[in-house]
Amino acid sequence: MTRTKIKDLLNATDFGRQVTINGWVKTFRNNQFIAINDGSTINNIQAVVDFTNTDEALLKRITTGAAVSVTGTLVESLGKGQRVEVKVSQLEILGDSDPEKFPLQPKKHSLEFLREIAHLRFRTNTFNAVFKIRHALAFAVHKFFNEKGFVYMHTPIITGSDAEGAGEMFRVSTIDPDNIPRNEDGSINYKEDFFGRPTNLTVSGQLEGELAAMAFGEIYTFGPTFRAENSNTTRHLAEFWMIEPEMAFYDITDNMDLAEELLKYLIRYALGNCGDELEFLRNRLLEEEKQKPQNERSELDLLAKLQFCLENDFERLTYTEAVEILRNSKPNQKKQFKYLIEGWGADLQSEHERYLVEKHFKKPVILTNYPAEIKSFYMRLNETDEQGRRTVRAMDILFPGIGEIVGGSQREERLENLLGRMDELNIPAHEMDWYLDTRRFGSAPHSGFGLGFERLVLFVTGMTNIRDVIPFPRTPKNAEF
Ligand code: ATP
Ligand code: MN
Repeated sequence: MTRTKIKDLLNATDFGRQVTINGWVKTFRNNQFIAINDGSTINNIQAVVDFTNTDEALLKRITTGAAVSVTGTLVESLGKGQRVEVKVSQLEILGDSDPEKFPLQPKKHSLEFLREIAHLRFRTNTFNAVFKIRHALAFAVHKFFNEKGFVYMHTPIITGSDAEGAGEMFRVSTIDPDNIPRNEDGSINYKEDFFGRPTNLTVSGQLEGELAAMAFGEIYTFGPTFRAENSNTTRHLAEFWMIEPEMAFYDITDNMDLAEELLKYLIRYALGNCGDELEFLRNRLLEEEKQKPQNERSELDLLAKLQFCLENDFERLTYTEAVEILRNSKPNQKKQFKYLIEGWGADLQSEHERYLVEKHFKKPVILTNYPAEIKSFYMRLNETDEQGRRTVRAMDILFPGIGEIVGGSQREERLENLLGRMDELNIPAHEMDWYLDTRRFGSAPHSGFGLGFERLVLFVTGMTNIRDVIPFPRTPKNAEF
């Protein structure tokens, strides 16, 4: 008999039918009731064993974590908590799980503990929910862009350009560290290396994405990116996934509109397609918050928070306006910020971003027109203002509980300006000739942004540590599994 997935059985009404289910034992109660999960849904099915007619030795092997195949009749359940169950006529243990050794017992484990056994944590309800939502969001990203006619572009993971400046890079090399080829002056001879030049893991697909956008009009990338930054925070990974659309003929407002539409589409998709998972995570969060004092609990539960995000326009304001708000804010006046905002030009730290979204506006915020000095060379320069301040058409989207979720800009399409900025920042133009060619041949206004995929998953699942929304996190001093 072919296997039926539990997800389909839980909604079935054709009682009396013979079914076979394969899955893993979650619990086994009273020598009678097996809760089985096969990953197709966060919910388990109950299989009822006739223990009086079942071999004692076989019953002993029904332990948490064991893989089983069960055949029996689908019946309406008399018990509370489930609609259907399977009356077992045949039970086979596919793989035993020694209860003395299996680390996942049917009780609540801390997320920290589960992180240490990340190879097994998929089997918990929490991670079942998180990674189902991660999957749904990834699918929805492609759906969104495909529906809009964007071309999915695979930009390289190994890159020869190190000028992007988005962060510290991981060197890719086959040079034997015990036998480094050297030039006469003692420097490393990269001609001997695999690619005949220094190469790194990419920090962003943007520059290559721009090349494609200047032919296809609208493209996006969705792939892994790598940053060797030593930031041990709950929002940084050394390997993370980024979605980077790049569009010809979009100005910064078009860019913001697209980003806001994308974020809302993805949240709506999760709400519409991951109901069980979100409900589970919502309750999990409510339980967790019971440990906290009243004033530290969230005003909105997970579902209400997501709904709120859909129903409200993101607040749009300039960096200059934001700095005024921050300068006059209570935590700045009372010197509670670690980095005090003295005036225009200061880089915004995550404490400032979170004050703006969580305390001041209480909703997602898009900040624009940052000082050129604190942003990348490829961002389009605005006219210098009366005070002589130079700003660029950058836009960052800040989310409650997350901080920056999107970073983007209108790109500098004017060759002279771009060369000027590269010169200021000591970026060697001759190494970037391929990039500059877009500005030499048929340059046009264009824009793009990067959405950090794990930060999105964090927001939608309500998880609080980025290590818990990627299957096998890579962080400083940790690359296990
Ligand atoms: P942050 O200031 O938070 O470090 P950033 O300014 O370095 O971010 P960008 O270079 O603009 O970020 O990257 C675009 C997006 O990628 C960010 O908005 C964020 O969502 C995500 N991102 C950046 N760095 C990381 C990281 N180390 N781990 C996970 N996501 C990241
Ligand atoms: Mn960063």
